[in-house]
Amino acid sequence: MANWSLLGYAGPEPPERVAAARQAEGRTEHIFQMINSSITADTSLDFDAVVIGSGCGGAVAAAELACAGHRVLVLEKGKYFSLSEMSGVEGEALDQLYERGGIVSTEDTGLAVLAGGTFGGSAVNWACCLRTPDYVRQEWATEHGLKRFATDEFGDALDAICKRINVTSTGISHNRNNELFIDGCQKAGYEVEDAPQNMADASPGASGAGFICAGDRYEIKQSMTVTFLRDAAAARVPAQFADRCKVSEVIHSKGVASGVRATLIGSDGQPHQLTVRARVVVVACGSINSPALLLRSRLPNKNGLIGRIFDCTRCHSSLPGCLLALRTWCLGRVRR
Ligand SMILES: Cc1cc2nc3c(=O)[nH]c(=O)nc-3n(C[C@H](O)[C@H](O)[C@H](O)COP(=O)(O)OP(=O)(O)OC[C@H]3O[C@@H](n4cnc5c(N)ncnc54)[C@H](O)[C@@H]3O)c2cc1C
Repeated sequence: MANWSLLGYAGPEPPERVAAARQAEGRTEHIFQMINSSITADTSLDFDAVVIGSGCGGAVAAAELACAGHRVLVLEKGKYFSLSEMSGVEGEALDQLYERGGIVSTEDTGLAVLAGGTFGGSAVNWACCLRTPDYVRQEWATEHGLKRFATDEFGDALDAICKRINVTSTGISHNRNNELFIDGCQKAGYEVEDAPQNMADASPGASGAGFICAGDRYEIKQSMTVTFLRDAAAARVPAQFADRCKVSEVIHSKGVASGVRATLIGSDGQPHQLTVRARVVVVACGSINSPALLLRSRLPNKNGLIGRIFDCTRCHSSLPGCLLALRTWCLGRVRR
């Protein structure tokens, strides 16, 4: 904060101005109710489906299942923050909304991963929405036997998601960094296209557009708390939600899942054991925690690949014989 004035940054807008901007755009906050408020002792519950993780994967699964009439419980280890609980200050946002305060790396710091750790998952981030390219879908189908990704059904699913989260590439404005980058690319002869975004408003000067990764207080991004988690909550049989609820294990017999064990912070502020029995168990904890949960639960791992492929933000390596001792690759995919 000490540097804000030097940078010419006025700081996050005060809550009243943010609320007024939301109101002017007709955006109404949905306050999610958490079952934590009714739990003060170790508890067992029965549902049709339990969804672990409230991010992009978990939210879509929860909405689909709840809208199909199933009794759904979503368990999220991070905390749910209502809009008034977010300050918009970057340091606080990293602490509150990101996995381990935004600093997850291997012990040697060679691999860094940035992931959300809050209700709504990593969708607290940027808004670039690229469809899975056809050549990748083909590769998954032909080289890895995942034939469904090459079908029209998967294409239709992408269409449905893009429609619900309002993906568009028209009318997108760019900040100064992007303008310079675009200019450089064009001068170098590269073709430039706008990346589609899932924003309610991507026009110049849209309130809050530059701050979504520090908690979207303006609800300008069509992220999970604005779309699929809301759909799940509004279903005829509304989905239930728990935050600060870390699933430690998937209960299964010979690989057939029948529920989960978790630790949840109850209304007394104390940790309680939660056991959920369910016919359907959806593991949607993101690329770091899903493999960890599957391995902890000793679920079958026929090809031995669980936990061996990571997405990462950055990868550092020392290359012998290079002039630079340290090389950095951004947005790499690493396979051990
Ligand atoms: C800063 C940043 C910017 C990004 N920008 C973009 C972008 O512009 N475009 C794009 O397409 N993608 C982007 N991504 C990637 C995108 O957000 C992820 O690919 C996507 O959110 C993954 O969805 P998911 O459901 O698998 O996991 P997540 O959205 O990460 O959700 C997993 C959730 O599970 C919870 N969880 C984990 N373990 C447990 C447990 N044991 N018990 C209970 N809950 C648990 C976590 O707290 C988390 O909330 C970005 C990611 C980050 C971090």
